[in-house]
Amino acid sequence: MEKKQFQAESKRLLEMMINSIYTQREIFLRELISNASDAVDKIYYKALTDENLTFNKEDYFIKITADKASRTLTISDTGIGMTKDELENNLGIIAKSGSLAFKKENEAQDGHNIIGQFGVGFYSAFMVADQVTVTSKALGSDEAYRWESTGADGYTIEPTGKDTVGTEIVLKIKENTEEDQYDEFLEQYRLKAIVKKYSDFIRYPIKMDITGS
Ligand code: ADP
Ligand code: MG
Repeated sequence: MEKKQFQAESKRLLEMMINSIYTQREIFLRELISNASDAVDKIYYKALTDENLTFNKEDYFIKITADKASRTLTISDTGIGMTKDELENNLGIIAKSGSLAFKKENEAQDGHNIIGQFGVGFYSAFMVADQVTVTSKALGSDEAYRWESTGADGYTIEPTGKDTVGTEIVLKIKENTEEDQYDEFLEQYRLKAIVKKYSDFIRYPIKMDITGS
C-alpha cells in the first residue's frame, strides 16, 4: 500500500506534537471530543432540514474506550463521518490552524504555552500516541475507510468495514519512558477528570468503558 506524505506545514506541526515537551498533553482529549461533538452537530443540523433524516437524541453520543492490555484509547462518535476524500483532505492538511505561524513568531518567548491557547486539533493525538487509526463511514455512503499514521513519515488510507455512520479514532498510547508518563491516559479516574476539566459543556453524552489491568 502506498504511503502518502503530509504537506510540509502539517509535517512540521506533527513533528512538534510528536516531540512535544508540552506539559499539558491531556488536551488531546479535549480536541478529539470537540471534533466528535462537531461531527454530531453536523448530522443534527442536517436532520433539521432533511425530512428523510430523523434525529433521535439517544442515538447520538461520544464514547471513550480504554484497553490497558492493548494500550489503546478509542474515541468514537455517531456523527456525520468522513468520506475517503474528507479523510485525505481534513486529516492530511492543516486547513486553518494559525498555531504554527504563531509559534514561529513567539518561539523565543514561550516555547510551550502556545499549543494550549490554540485549537491544535486532531494532530494533538500524536502527543500521546505513536499510532493513530481513524475509521470512518460518512452519512449517505456505503463505504468505510481507514486512515492510519505512525507520525511524520506519512499515512495510509484503505477501504474497510464499518456498520454504522460515524468515526472511530484509535490511539495506540505511547510506552512510559523515564521522563514521560503515558499510562495515565488509560486510567478511568484520569480520563474522567480530563473530560470534566475540558469537556463538561459538551451537549452529547460522553460514555466511558475502561477494561484490562
Ligand atoms: P478543526 O476542528 O479546527 O477543523 P481539527 O484538526 O481538529 O481542526 O480537525 C480537522 C478536520 O477533520 C475537522 O474540521 C473535520 O472536518 C475533520 N474531523 C476530525 N475529527 C472528526 C470526526 N470525529 N468526525 C468527522 N470529521 C472529523
Ligand atoms: Mg478540532
